[in-house]
Amino acid sequence: EAKERGEGGYQRYRPGMEARGAERNRLTAALLAALDQDELVLRYQPVVTLPEGRLTGVEALVRWQHPERGLLGPGEFIPGAEETGLIVPLGRWVLREACRQATAWIDDLGDLAPGTMSVNASARQLQEPGFAAEVAAALRDSGLAAGRLTIEITESTAVGGGATQDNLRGLRALGVRLSLDDFGTGASTLSLLANCPVDQIKLDRSFAPGPGPDAIAGAVLQLARALGVEAVAEGVETPAQAAKLGDLGYVRAQGFHFARPMTPEDVGAGIRARQVTELAGSFSARP
Ligand code: C2E
Ligand code: MG
Ligand code: MG
Ligand code: MG
Repeated sequence: EAKERGEGGYQRYRPGMEARGAERNRLTAALLAALDQDELVLRYQPVVTLPEGRLTGVEALVRWQHPERGLLGPGEFIPGAEETGLIVPLGRWVLREACRQATAWIDDLGDLAPGTMSVNASARQLQEPGFAAEVAAALRDSGLAAGRLTIEITESTAVGGGATQDNLRGLRALGVRLSLDDFGTGASTLSLLANCPVDQIKLDRSFAPGPGPDAIAGAVLQLARALGVEAVAEGVETPAQAAKLGDLGYVRAQGFHFARPMTPEDVGAGIRARQVTELAGSFSARP
């Protein structure tokens, strides 16, 4: 079974699965039922320090435990959920579950718990007038400190209208951290950084060092430093990439080289194992 799974630990996209009307409607109805029947689950991918590989936080990544099709990745249902508006209740569930898990780890592991919980939010969620209030409620109900929650948005979300700008201000006022995900792939990056203060940028994995020059990765780090913004390198798959990023000066990274998205149980076990052995190497995880 494991062999059939893609790199993210879920089944690969199969051509023909997509989005004709009828199929889309069927998916929507099924996703609504899935929300109701607790078929959504979260995996958590460690964010680590460079060069030590010490855990600093996790990113929550949603999957759908489909009764017939197995564990589905977000690429198979998030676009449909965004189109239909189902992303709003889905995202609310993700947010609340991630905050609950973050608090459970803190209760269990104390200082060893992941320092921050990152949650992805879609443009459609930020356009909802009540989004910042929902985040406030999730923090209140879980008991998680606002400063331990990071909301990840993309460049195109950040320039959005509707209630987006009010929500971004509201989140900042709460003390929630904001991260610009997939940095460098969107439009209007520089004017955006000038106008939309964020706490973190995540260098898109397409800019992770390859065999060629690492001009972009280096320049983005300089930009982040100049702005006083934390930089995270995403999609680090090899020891060579980790070493190059460390040489460039990156101190935060995420990627399969360090750990894949993991069940909450595996994250807890990984942290406990490291505590016992006091390993300073990469945060090791089952593939
Ligand atoms: P993202 O936020 O940029 O998340 C990182 C994605 O890269 C994850 O894919 C992760 O599994 C994958 N990844 C991590 N390390 C590596 C690596 O070394 N190499 C490669 N090739 N990939 C790596 P995943 O879990 O399939 O999620 C895809 C996207 O779906 C996310 O991209 C995010 O935009 C969206 N997404 C996931 N969960 C949620 C959610 O709860 N809400 C919303 N709105 N979107 C979500
Ligand atoms: Mg993300
Ligand atoms: Mg990303
Ligand atoms: Mg992405």
